[in-house]
Amino acid sequence: QLADESVGMGELLISPLRLEPHPSLPLPADLFGKHPGSRANSTGLDLTVAAMRDPLLAALQTAPVPVVPEFDVKNIPGAYAACASSYQKWSKVPVEERAATLRRAADALQTAMPQFCALLVKEAFKTWGDAVSEVREAVDFLRYYADEAQRIMQPIACPVVANAQAGYQYGVTGETNTLRLTARGVWVCISPWNFPLAIFMGQVAAALATGNTVMAKPAEQTPGVAKAAVDLMVAAGVPADALQLLHGAGETVGAALVAQPGVAGVVFTGSTQVAKIIQRALAAKDGPIVPLIAETGGINAMLVDSSALPEQVVDAVVMSAFRSAGQRCSALRLLVVHSAIADGVIEMLQGAAQELQVGNPADLTTDLGPVIDREAFDNIQRHITRLKNESKVLVGAGAATRFAQVKEEPATRAGDTEQNALSRPLIANLIAPHAFEVESIAQVKAEIFGPVLQVVRWDGNPEDVIAQINALGYGLTLGIQTRIDSRAQALAAQAHVGNIYINRNMIGAVVGVQPFGGEGLSGTGPKAGGPHYLYRFCAEQTVTVNT
Ligand code: GLU
Repeated sequence: QLADESVGMGELLISPLRLEPHPSLPLPADLFGKHPGSRANSTGLDLTVAAMRDPLLAALQTAPVPVVPEFDVKNIPGAYAACASSYQKWSKVPVEERAATLRRAADALQTAMPQFCALLVKEAFKTWGDAVSEVREAVDFLRYYADEAQRIMQPIACPVVANAQAGYQYGVTGETNTLRLTARGVWVCISPWNFPLAIFMGQVAAALATGNTVMAKPAEQTPGVAKAAVDLMVAAGVPADALQLLHGAGETVGAALVAQPGVAGVVFTGSTQVAKIIQRALAAKDGPIVPLIAETGGINAMLVDSSALPEQVVDAVVMSAFRSAGQRCSALRLLVVHSAIADGVIEMLQGAAQELQVGNPADLTTDLGPVIDREAFDNIQRHITRLKNESKVLVGAGAATRFAQVKEEPATRAGDTEQNALSRPLIANLIAPHAFEVESIAQVKAEIFGPVLQVVRWDGNPEDVIAQINALGYGLTLGIQTRIDSRAQALAAQAHVGNIYINRNMIGAVVGVQPFGGEGLSGTGPKAGGPHYLYRFCAEQTVTVNT
């Protein structure tokens, strides 16, 4: 008998405790050595990092962060004109050739993995594990969209439809009908600093594979990674005018790009608030209705029932809430744990959090590097201060001796013109993992984009918990931890959430096999790295021939 419901033991799934990464895509032996456990996902990469230690550390010394001047908004119409004219040629390049260009870029990126990892460490303060998985994800996006464009851009014949089983047919025209996809034009790609390579490359690759051309505005904090990515794509054969890089602030360069007449579509990853600003700006424009693909944030929850395995729960919580210093839109923000096992889970979580090393991301053993900048640091600290007053501290900087070494003081970041980024203060803006116990789900209002977890206890009916999570209005990721399979399936079906992870961590969606993206306040869809994504970048054309 379980504490939270009368469920017979016969229904209990005894799933193995899965602390090991499960096997996935085999990785190229030349880069990843003989470690079959290595995977493209964020888990289990330590062996990979260890195997690549020497090239990674060498790249840290040698790979400079490219210096990118700010783009003058006055030059946007000119850049657009060049991009639009390039579209006339690029859209007519056969899809097989466009795909081959992206595959060349993927190969080149894979070869340059240590250098790109070093850029990610130096400019975005990624840990080596996060950097390796991000480069791998970018390589996957290039290959996946190359394959997908070739798959979906073949014309489809639309013959008479016959439903023999139901005994009818329709679509008799006496004509030949064909449906095909075409590119739309110039796309604006606005990408975030938390995946400055993978999301940047993913957006750009999707637009280019389908024959569109691109004006890309990377996050202000990470233009150097974007510049290196653009240079690599141009070297692989993407025409320079087809991929314009415009570095600058969202309020200036981003806004001017969205307002530029003629833009065919916008793809954006960032905050819900900015997605809505873009949506309103597009709606207010004269001319055609411009599609927007937005992937935004989430107040992502994990529901844990009393049948769950505490060790597995804690492993998943630490990974989901604190990996990447919580700077993933998929990250766990709200742990909702059944009161029967809550004390045990919290105690284990406190122990596990003490093991985490917070510090210099260039250090191979660091688990949490700094948050991206001073503004993010201040914002997260404000929430920490608020939660210290409003709730019970479960995990905090003062609670563990290891965190005593962690400097919570912000340090100013070196100027972006710094050539040798090694002199950047890689240990500025560190925030130790925090967890707070709060009274109710409804109390959790804001997405805190950092290593801050809120914990709520529940009793009663798990469907009510899912209803409360749905009521938050976001819908990106959800974790469910239970050994009752029928319950996991029923709760998953009830949730208005894009990505559901049962009995595992809830970050690191793998391209192609875990299409990623949410609903509601979390985004418009279609899912990145999924089979429907490229359709949104295309127009559809039906051609009817009187034969
Ligand atoms: N795709 C990433 C993941 O599954 C998150 C992307 C984001 O943070 O924007 O963890």
